Amino acid sequence: MSYARMLCVGLIGVTGRLVEVEADLSVGLPAVVLTGLPDTALHEARDRVRAAVVNSGCDWPNRRITVNLLPAALPKHGSGFDLAIAAALLAGAGELPAGPLEGVLVLGELGLDGTVRPVRGVLPMVAAAAQAGVTRVVVPLANAREATVVPGVTVRAVDSLRRLVDFVRGADRLLDPPVESSPPVPAGPDLADVAGQRLGRYALEIAAAGGHHLVLFGPPGAGKTMLAERLPSLLPALSDEAALEVTALQSIAGVLPPDSGLVRRPPYQAPHHSSSLASLIGGGGGLARPGALSLAHRGVLFLDEAPEISRATLQALREPLESGRVVLARARGTTEYPARAQLVLAANPCPCATTDRCCTCSPLVRRRYLARLSGPLLDRIDIKIDLLPMRAAQLMTTQAPAESSVAVAARVLRAREAAAERWAVDGWRVNAEVPGPQLRRAPWLLPARDTTALRNALDRGTVSARGFDRVLRLAWTIADLDGRDRPGEEDVAEALQLRTGEAGPAAAAADRPQPASHGFGPTADSAIGPAGSAVPR
Ligand SMILES: [Zn+2]
Repeated sequence: MSYARMLCVGLIGVTGRLVEVEADLSVGLPAVVLTGLPDTALHEARDRVRAAVVNSGCDWPNRRITVNLLPAALPKHGSGFDLAIAAALLAGAGELPAGPLEGVLVLGELGLDGTVRPVRGVLPMVAAAAQAGVTRVVVPLANAREATVVPGVTVRAVDSLRRLVDFVRGADRLLDPPVESSPPVPAGPDLADVAGQRLGRYALEIAAAGGHHLVLFGPPGAGKTMLAERLPSLLPALSDEAALEVTALQSIAGVLPPDSGLVRRPPYQAPHHSSSLASLIGGGGGLARPGALSLAHRGVLFLDEAPEISRATLQALREPLESGRVVLARARGTTEYPARAQLVLAANPCPCATTDRCCTCSPLVRRRYLARLSGPLLDRIDIKIDLLPMRAAQLMTTQAPAESSVAVAARVLRAREAAAERWAVDGWRVNAEVPGPQLRRAPWLLPARDTTALRNALDRGTVSARGFDRVLRLAWTIADLDGRDRPGEEDVAEALQLRTGEAGPAAAAADRPQPASHGFGPTADSAIGPAGSAVPR
């Protein structure tokens, strides 16, 4: 027989589809023809496979070889088809019996010496195959741990084409996936390290509990980055479903460490402000790759020095933040990635980004600088706060030792559970996901007496219509954290202050939030100068 076929998987975004790799060997001038919409990397498989076959000690069939990838309409990319192509070709040439690999998914890239190299996206590929009824897979050794995460699949690993050939001939065994050594999950940075910053810590807790986006204004050294990178430590560990999504995305992006299993910690991404649009949102040649936004899916995306980010990039964030997904259209097809990340923006009060008296920026320059952030993106952010330089803030709170992430995370978890239970019927997990109209309808409509301040703010134009709903969501989160079954007047007022926080730019210090219930009186936090105000410098 001069025909054989193997099973492989093609990926579009995070969705995999079973691909049949056919090899036909016929009489004619020796050549290898590859058909079925391959991209460049896949075209080069012809050369890699030939070298790998010869260097593995097999005979290269000197015939006309046609390799076809089905379904032909599905664009295929990458080097993960190499091993399946080699196996199909050798089976077609009669070098190998095809039986042992029938119905088995075969994944792997070949080196010229015949070694099997790891490929990206093994987890979503194996998951797709399992969904299509495949129960046995052969993957590169470095990807084997990742593949075992998929339930109902027997995983075997290979390190070389030679091993696969010997196995099919019955002369050797395939490798077992590395056993989970359950290495201790390295603890991320802890909130206990953050001295002072009561308002910052409290805002972080609310953001974690309700899934709210957050913007931090403050001079260099105020601890904006310190706070942001501790937000993941306040979030609950990823559920099975979320962990699969996050691990699949990291696998596709090629950032999943070798031999790693499911990612359980909420991811944290902090791209530099000079990052390109493609690296932030996703993109690249051929079929687009996930960007930092998708790698922060179910976790935190931190954008430091946000006013320095190009306007186009900031605008491009808006739609995915609303919809929770990124859709990238390319010539070869449309790719979609999940992107339900919690956004934390940080901004210095002025472009020179020096501290204290060194700043010589005029009020106009400062206002213009922060204005780069304003507009629709800022309108989608629930919490806006000002932070003081760390020194002064530390002085404010020497009485109590700082709480650890574990303690705060326990409160966050309780609040999240309360919210999830309330919205369970509609399937929302956190308050930030609840559509505004829902909160303005019975039974969730708050009594008029509790929302007077908020309605006045809307009438005055201090909050937008979108902002109105965001304040309501925040109020629910504050109530959840305090263990009350619905927000009262104080919660709404506090939410309004956090939202209009007037946190940075144009706010007057007098309008700063002074939430009574948490005792942030006119603290140092509120004394920071809004842009262009008369704060001594
Ligand atoms: Zn300045």
